[in-house]
Amino acid sequence: MRKIPVTIPCFSTEEREMVDKALSSNWVAQGPMVAEFEKAIAAHEGVRNGIATTSCTTALHLALVSLGLKPGMDVIAPSFTFVATVNSIVYTGAEPVLTDIHQDTYNINAGKVEELIENNYTPKNGKLYNKKSGNVLWGVIAVHQFGLCSNIYAINEIAKKYGLKVLEDAACAVGAKIGDKHEGAFGNVSCLSFHPRKSITTGEGGMILTDDDKLATHLRSIRSHGASVAADARHSGKGFLLPEFNEIGYNYRMNDIQAAVGIAQTKKFDWLLETRRQKSLYYDKLIKENLPLLITPKVPDGYYHTYQSYVCMLNYDMLKFNNVESAGDYRNKLLAELEDIGISTRQGTHAVHLLGYYKNKYGYKPQDIPVAYACDRMSITLPLYVQMEDDDQEYVIESIKKLTFKWSSQNA
Ligand SMILES: *Cc1c(COP(=O)(O)O)cnc(C)c1O
Repeated sequence: MRKIPVTIPCFSTEEREMVDKALSSNWVAQGPMVAEFEKAIAAHEGVRNGIATTSCTTALHLALVSLGLKPGMDVIAPSFTFVATVNSIVYTGAEPVLTDIHQDTYNINAGKVEELIENNYTPKNGKLYNKKSGNVLWGVIAVHQFGLCSNIYAINEIAKKYGLKVLEDAACAVGAKIGDKHEGAFGNVSCLSFHPRKSITTGEGGMILTDDDKLATHLRSIRSHGASVAADARHSGKGFLLPEFNEIGYNYRMNDIQAAVGIAQTKKFDWLLETRRQKSLYYDKLIKENLPLLITPKVPDGYYHTYQSYVCMLNYDMLKFNNVESAGDYRNKLLAELEDIGISTRQGTHAVHLLGYYKNKYGYKPQDIPVAYACDRMSITLPLYVQMEDDDQEYVIESIKKLTFKWSSQNA
């Protein structure tokens, strides 16, 4: 049977040679390769500092801690995102407050953020207080979903107007741009992921980007147990000296074996992103010409989408669904049948307000965040990887067309 996975990473001899170099050096914890990888990514994105971590989840946690998030505070985040975005808020003891997205871009809806602030918070002494819990509103996490930047300028405006902080979850969006500005360079701290589902990978890994040197120093310290002298400085000085520990930190360090893979990936970065983009544009064309019951992802003018995932939506009106739940059943039946013939797909991502922990803790109903709910039930991630041939993509679209045609003629 023909097998089309949802994605596969792209490794060649460079990754193997770099890993061999790391192993041969005997320095396999965080060391010179991590420093080189941090510099390469930060330079590519046009940001002063990169702080590599074990994952984007730990990057988000570190960034929130360093930016002062604590118990008694609220953070606004979109519901339609990977659970880790919201879990990172909970790690600090703060409370997540979920909001909605735009259905065509899957990104946070700035209008909804402002509405939520106006309806649920009262200003006092230059801060915003939650009318129910009394929590102070810290700020917003803007997610750049699937490789497309959110409308970060609108979010920054809201932050300025209300005195809030912004953290960008750019897990999927390394290399994404608005105009010629890369994610990471929009004036906020941002976090990247190098999980194999993302555009470039180190196996597992993440990175925080910031232009603030002082914050970068603090992040490096709490990444490594709160040590106030970096390990490499210690090694170049008197070996017997242990660093001072003045605050609680974590062990969230990337290691040099991972960074070795990352350095090799960075060298073909632009080619990887552009290849994925070209294949996504080919999906756009195939779908527009052959499969109008799928809605292709929208790219606003001036935005450079890197297509970490190619995510489309079932056309609710064309398929004459009665409600979102029955649309979800149809989508799941479609994805199951595709899997049976060897084509792997996924839903885009999940709506966090529908997940057990958050649903039970906050009493969310699906319709409370309706667009996130609809995207949870009707989105489809098509297979995408740089080794994919045109013929593979045509096979995916043909297969969806055949299945949906069969079902509609059965129902006619
Ligand atoms: C993948 C992803 C994460 C988590 O990244 P890890 O590196 O796996 O921890 C966080 N946020 C979003 C939006 C993601 O897609």
